[in-house]
Amino acid sequence: MNGIWGRSLVTLALLAAACFALWPVFGAAVALAAFAAVLLIIVAVHLHHVSLLLNWLRAPAPETTPQGAGVWDEVFAALHRMLRQQRSSESQLSATLKDFQLAAAAMPDGMVILDRADRIEWCNPAAERHFGLDHRRDAGQQITYLLRHPQFAEKLRSRSHGEPLTLRQLRGSDLVLSVLIVPYGDRQKLVISRDVTELERVETMRRDFIANVSHELRTPLTVLGGFLETISDSEPLDSGLLRRSLPLMTDQARRMQRLVEDLLTLSRLESAGNPLREERVDVPALVRTLYHDAVALSARRHRIVLDLGSDDGLIGSEDDLRSAFGNLISNAIRYTPEGGEIAISWQRRGDEAVFAVRDNGIGISPQHIPRLTERFYRVDRSRSRETGGTGLGLAIVKHVLNRHHGRLEIESEPGRGSTFRALFPPERVTAAQTAPAAAGTA
Ligand code: ADP
Repeated sequence: MNGIWGRSLVTLALLAAACFALWPVFGAAVALAAFAAVLLIIVAVHLHHVSLLLNWLRAPAPETTPQGAGVWDEVFAALHRMLRQQRSSESQLSATLKDFQLAAAAMPDGMVILDRADRIEWCNPAAERHFGLDHRRDAGQQITYLLRHPQFAEKLRSRSHGEPLTLRQLRGSDLVLSVLIVPYGDRQKLVISRDVTELERVETMRRDFIANVSHELRTPLTVLGGFLETISDSEPLDSGLLRRSLPLMTDQARRMQRLVEDLLTLSRLESAGNPLREERVDVPALVRTLYHDAVALSARRHRIVLDLGSDDGLIGSEDDLRSAFGNLISNAIRYTPEGGEIAISWQRRGDEAVFAVRDNGIGISPQHIPRLTERFYRVDRSRSRETGGTGLGLAIVKHVLNRHHGRLEIESEPGRGSTFRALFPPERVTAAQTAPAAAGTA
């Protein structure tokens, strides 16, 4: 018997004794009536507390726990304690859940939890982005209804989930995903997705690059090989054939040499272990030298103008800048027909310093302009080759400018000419040191 029972029975016994004490004085009827009245009052008090309890149970909250008398005080106190404990473990649980959700939301990988029947139970924001899902709208949906991909459905059915799956074009998206299915618990599954679009792009670029380099080298090698075979087969040695083929062979060898040099320059510019040399470059002197080289290269086929509007220098690598500016100038010469005009300038534009090469040559259609700095991208392949181009010049220019925190601006109109501008930010520009401003024409 617990305390409540004991105390209740003692109280009842005391009340009964008090009522029956009336018996000798007032008679049995009065004593029994008094006892009945006491019992009724006790029942009414309990009913009142039951009603309080029922009312409170409709919206139980520790703050509104009713006050009770006697045994009910203990009942309400116990309920109050229980509710407080429940509240605290609920808030602990929701804090843990919140932490988990925050961690899941911060995860770059997508996570989808599937039940035994491959229905979505939950997914994180990365999975929503990857698969175009909505964790509220799609919860309870069969994942294969939403992600209709035969390979994915096959993998989900198969028992060996080990290898990740590469999925493309899921629900019309451009993303390339690597998806791993991990079984856990009671036949539940976790679908983990990773965005590998960028990796794929780099991999494609690497493959294309190797294919392009091989292709570029194959043509001159085939020509050289062909000539060498013909010469070896001619018995006795045909001096006329030799005289005709040697210049062509030299041409092809030079082409390969230029290509290899440009490739080495690019790889040097890209190499992480080759930081930019931070020397003060006397740009006006450099541009003047390049102008004289241009005059020699053009061999009087063009009118070349030099405009040194600024005597500022740059902080950076003289070799890299020579290579970038030289490429822009040689392009202008190569893509401007005889009689055309080329203007080379070095000027200030606001805070920035600008090296520009303007020509009135063949120009470029707008759709090609955004792709010109890609390796081996050429508007007209045969014209580029005929003029000794490797298709890497503007890729080198872009790299050099990036390393100097500069940018390339291209303006061009087919048939009217082009302007290529290399712009450098103020932190790269240094005030004049030696050379005064100058202008020249050839
Ligand atoms: P390439 O060795 O073929 O000249 P570049 O990377 O230097 O390679 O240039 C890429 C392409 O951009 C060229 O093939 C050519 O089609 C175009 N291009 C570059 N400069 C000019 C220019 N000044 N005028 C017209 N087209 C140009």
